[in-house]
Amino acid sequence: MYQSNVKKPAVEGGVPARETKIYYGHQYIDEADVQAVVDVLRNHDLTCGPKIKELEDKLCSVTGAKYAVVCSNGTAALHIACLAAGVGEGDEVITTPITFAASANCALYCGARPVFADIDPETYNIDPQKVEEAVTERTKAVIAVDYTGQSAELEPLQEICKEHGLILIEDGAHVIGTKYKGRANGSIADMTTFSFHPVKTVTGGEGGAVLTNDETLYRKLLLYRSHGITRDTDLMEHEPDGAWYYEQIALGFNYRMTDIQAALIISQLDKLPMFSNRRKEIVARYDEAFGKLPQLFVQREIPESDTTRHLYILRIVPEKLTIGRRQFFDALAAENVCCNVHYIPTYYFPYYEKMGYRRGLCPNAEKLYGEIISLPLYYAMTDEDVESVIEAVTKIAVYYERK
Ligand SMILES: *Cc1c(COP(=O)(O)O)cnc(C)c1O
Repeated sequence: MYQSNVKKPAVEGGVPARETKIYYGHQYIDEADVQAVVDVLRNHDLTCGPKIKELEDKLCSVTGAKYAVVCSNGTAALHIACLAAGVGEGDEVITTPITFAASANCALYCGARPVFADIDPETYNIDPQKVEEAVTERTKAVIAVDYTGQSAELEPLQEICKEHGLILIEDGAHVIGTKYKGRANGSIADMTTFSFHPVKTVTGGEGGAVLTNDETLYRKLLLYRSHGITRDTDLMEHEPDGAWYYEQIALGFNYRMTDIQAALIISQLDKLPMFSNRRKEIVARYDEAFGKLPQLFVQREIPESDTTRHLYILRIVPEKLTIGRRQFFDALAAENVCCNVHYIPTYYFPYYEKMGYRRGLCPNAEKLYGEIISLPLYYAMTDEDVESVIEAVTKIAVYYERK
């Protein structure tokens, strides 16, 4: 068992850069959010009420997408997006290994096989060239993740999908607030999924959504969200027995969102420009400070993406340091900067190993995983918080520099 050595000071004899611990992410809830939730509790509908449509309309106006279907969480959103795309038994779905497990698990839920395509070594997003190479006659969909909030290379990916008749699903769990070529992410791919988990830029406690411009996909998403049940007589096979009548015409799920969550997300979305600006400020400050240190590599941003960052990835340059990522991570913890790592390549997990996936599949992703640490990044960080994180990182990078 690995024993963390976090109790030791990072740098011999040093005083921690911070007196109190700071964590990598935290939600921001104001009085308007509290009031929005309380108002729902005092109203008639706790679920399937007016807040659901209001949130769906709001997501459309924020992103420019034609249709939005909100659901219980980002994983459910990915699942119904795969089902709407027609992903099934024997199909293949191409995705990146540098993501949360849900981006590949959703293919498994449908009986399909995830195929991992490697990332670009500098932007860390899925490499369209590698996607192209991974296409077979079984491929049904591509799930591109906007890792850290930077848009995936949507145009090249759309071209590949068009050429091979594939559906492009954008796992946009990190992307809310970002624009690609001047258009908000959420209005571009065949379907884009969002997550409203508390670490994400906008939260509902839990929550998810699928956005699309395609009416056929939209109708399918509505069915899969709620048991495959319809009250639309045009879709029914039999004559209605009466006003109560409905039919189940597909196998769907209960992936509904409550009005309580929807009200909170609506209220949070009012703050999106504010959240986005602050995140951009913090990222600019980190980039400026870390760009000066050859011991660190700053994530490359493609010019097409105007990014609202969900994660800030500190990447070490191993050749320039006498310590590795693990020691750097522990040293930061000793400075009271409590980080995380996003992500362990999905196919490293035993569940995937047992299905036959092996290390070595995606060398760029594997190298990245060995060198990254997610630093604190959230709206409510003060300037002092930001400076203390920079101080801690700089102190460790300088102390352990390989001369
Ligand atoms: C958070 C996240 C998800 C899953 O969202 P949940 O709302 O937690 O189910 C999927 N993909 C990525 C990339 C995520 O970061």
